[in-house]
Amino acid sequence: MAMYQPPIPRPKRRNAVLRLYDGPLYRDWAFWLTVANVALPIVSLPASEVPSSSPLWVDIPLGIVLFGGTFGVLPAWLRLLFRRWRWRRAQRSQQEVRPDAPGRPTHGTAPLVQPAPRSTAPHRLQDALELPADRAHHGPQVPEFPWHVAPTVPQVMPVAQVTVPPGAAHSSGSSDAFSAARRSLPHPIARAVRIVQQAHTPRDEYEAVIDAGETLAIVISVTAAALLKDHARTGSGSDTALLAEPALARLKQAYVGSGAMFGTWTNWLASLNALVTAHPALIPGFREALESRPDEPSVVDHLNVLRNERNRAAHGDKPHTRQEATLRLATLRPHLEGALHRARFLEDVPWLLTVSSSYQPRTDNFAVVTRRVMGDHPDFEKQTFTWSRPVADEMFYVLGPSGPLSLSPFVASRFCGHCRQLEVCYAYKTGKRQGPATFKSFDSGHDIPADELGDDLRGLPGRD
Ligand SMILES: [Zn+2]
Repeated sequence: MAMYQPPIPRPKRRNAVLRLYDGPLYRDWAFWLTVANVALPIVSLPASEVPSSSPLWVDIPLGIVLFGGTFGVLPAWLRLLFRRWRWRRAQRSQQEVRPDAPGRPTHGTAPLVQPAPRSTAPHRLQDALELPADRAHHGPQVPEFPWHVAPTVPQVMPVAQVTVPPGAAHSSGSSDAFSAARRSLPHPIARAVRIVQQAHTPRDEYEAVIDAGETLAIVISVTAAALLKDHARTGSGSDTALLAEPALARLKQAYVGSGAMFGTWTNWLASLNALVTAHPALIPGFREALESRPDEPSVVDHLNVLRNERNRAAHGDKPHTRQEATLRLATLRPHLEGALHRARFLEDVPWLLTVSSSYQPRTDNFAVVTRRVMGDHPDFEKQTFTWSRPVADEMFYVLGPSGPLSLSPFVASRFCGHCRQLEVCYAYKTGKRQGPATFKSFDSGHDIPADELGDDLRGLPGRD
């Protein structure tokens, strides 16, 4: 029998109920304030000693409207106005920081919201791991995007302002960039691109494009982090280690702070520019991806456009109609294509999931069976290597120029109690001094605790 797993708390969804209250309702103070003020006249009027000229059946509804409205609904409405004002101000200051064309990397601007959970879709990592079929059914659907649309929110950033940079679309065209990514990039991003292509409506596609952008930012970042971690470990004191350690320390700061979000990844990638320029061999092809040319934005430039759109949507300015979604997609899709195009170097540093490793006494090395976690098809191709070092089973590795490097603690395969299946997850956050790590599923965005990996994240270079 499977053990009972308590459901994972849903992320708080702002203005999700009647636009005034946050979901889930029981965690919103404004909701309870309204409930209390509606209950007050119901409880107090019948017990009141003060004589009234009107009967109770008039007094009570009047009291409910008066108290509930003034002290419950009105504060919630004022909060909504305040949130909209704060968001507009944040948008303005963000534009002032970047007076030049959109798409420039933004340094130090934290994302304004947490990434939204992705839509749940079938995922068959368990096939690769040959798990019993009863663990393979899919869990309940999660809300696709928790922030509901507020149709009255003024459009602060007109669509026309987001210009499509020349060269973003490339000559390859949509289907080429997408099908290449689905064929040969690491599974999480290949799968995210498949969801883009399978979207039924422009609005679904709009969300899938932004999700794919975030997934790509994470996949590039954790791949780079695994390679840097090896340099920090093996090249202690060397020039490379001196650059790799502060880079990992910056990532650790996000993990022990508010968590690694879309903006964390793009800012972190932009910050690696100096390092990869000095040491291009560190991650082959990565320097070219980060290079901003006049006619061709860097991978970070492309991803930042998608990130800004994520923030915009998260603050209530999602496309309201099919037409608007189509219009915005026309601007966003080339940026996803451009980012995928520039991320092709990932093909040469494939992700592997180890299946088994056995010692070969005659040759004094290890025969390692792996699954190649590349492409959108979940029946990952089996590949056997002979390595001089043993590796752990059921762990993700990136096959770098110098051999296999563990993607832990950045990526892990974890069983999601919500979906009842194994999911590919990335590290999201952990406690500063102690406590488990929280991982997020690439597929569903579910939070999954990983007890032992908290220490590993805190063990990254850098001060506590
Ligand atoms: Zn899940």
